[in-house]
Amino acid sequence: MNTAYSDRILKTPKSFIREILKVTEVKDIISFAGGLPNPISFPQDTLQESMNRIVNEEGAKPFQYSTTEGLRPLREYIAERYEKQQNLKVSADDILITTGSQQGLDLMGKVLVNKGDAILIEKPGYLGAIQSFSLYEPEFIQINLNENGLDTDQLEQELKKQQVKLIYTVPNFQNPTGLTYSKENRKKIADILSDYPAILIEDDPYGNLSFDGEIYPYITDGKLLNGVLFGSFSKIITPGMRIGWICTKNRELMSHLVTAKQASDLHTNIFSQYLINDYLRQNDIDIHISKIRSLYKEQCGAMLNAIDRYFPKNVRVTRPKGGMFLWVTLPDGKSTMELFYKALEKNVSFVPGNPFYVQGESFSTMRLNYTNSSKEMIEEGIKRLAGVML
Ligand code: PMP
Repeated sequence: MNTAYSDRILKTPKSFIREILKVTEVKDIISFAGGLPNPISFPQDTLQESMNRIVNEEGAKPFQYSTTEGLRPLREYIAERYEKQQNLKVSADDILITTGSQQGLDLMGKVLVNKGDAILIEKPGYLGAIQSFSLYEPEFIQINLNENGLDTDQLEQELKKQQVKLIYTVPNFQNPTGLTYSKENRKKIADILSDYPAILIEDDPYGNLSFDGEIYPYITDGKLLNGVLFGSFSKIITPGMRIGWICTKNRELMSHLVTAKQASDLHTNIFSQYLINDYLRQNDIDIHISKIRSLYKEQCGAMLNAIDRYFPKNVRVTRPKGGMFLWVTLPDGKSTMELFYKALEKNVSFVPGNPFYVQGESFSTMRLNYTNSSKEMIEEGIKRLAGVML
């Protein structure tokens, strides 16, 4: 028994993906494993112009300590974009800038979760959320995800069965499946939740990356006081700056989140906040986003074509309408973990499904990322994967 470390860290799973990435980094490998945006999404030249401008024009401010809530003009920009895209009435006071939306997960866990509290998450669910919430020792309950979104019967059953603190969802182009909740599914979830005090997180790093430009409505539609939206610039500008945000109209919750963030890191990197704010104000982000969308649409199409051509016909695959991932299910009994090691021998990698399940009970699913390989590499990688499946 290791008594040197806290129970909470000993119970927290390591990120399987980071472990895989360590292996794949050292080899010349076709990787469908990571969740890396394509470097096309980093507008490096324009960011450099912004960097020069803020250094020349903002004096010492980008170098000084700053407020926990975040840079006000950036929060105003985010609030205005919610209004423009979704007709949501939110103000800068409803936005807390976080160090990536990953920090949002940690802060929500800190503020809401006592040991043993029930948290509902999707099945399969984002493993970064499973890892982050694990530190607060909740009881996880996974709700099945299907082609239309969350299984609403199961959702209702679980809400009736016990007091649920928190519900975590990724309704747009979900990580890991690429699935998107239908409008009817969103409405049904909102109807069910109106009878319960649980807080609903809609984590939305991919919402702007729909292949056809469609923007889906939020489940909460900005009306539920218990609705919390997460956003991030990681997938549309750069993940390296670590700029994300939490949006909520619940003032009490916001005030606790600010306290938790103060205790964690005082504030998010203020240089990055000035930089992203300047970039957003000087450029039309939607022109930039449309380039990313059309690239990812092509890459996803190339992967699906190759899968249709090479994979055995009894393998199932999701057909994403946006985002960065698709989800493959092998016939029952076939282990993707075994396949993973065989695939590595052929210099191709993916993430086996297990870490996306709280009990790690799925053996025949896997996540494939298509955003960070050329069409030729996608074709070659899928061919090799099919070779080890047979
Ligand atoms: N939520 C989801 C669903 C994600 O896929 C990711 C990135 N993989 C994150 C949050 C974290 O993103 P970031 O901290 O870079 O904003």
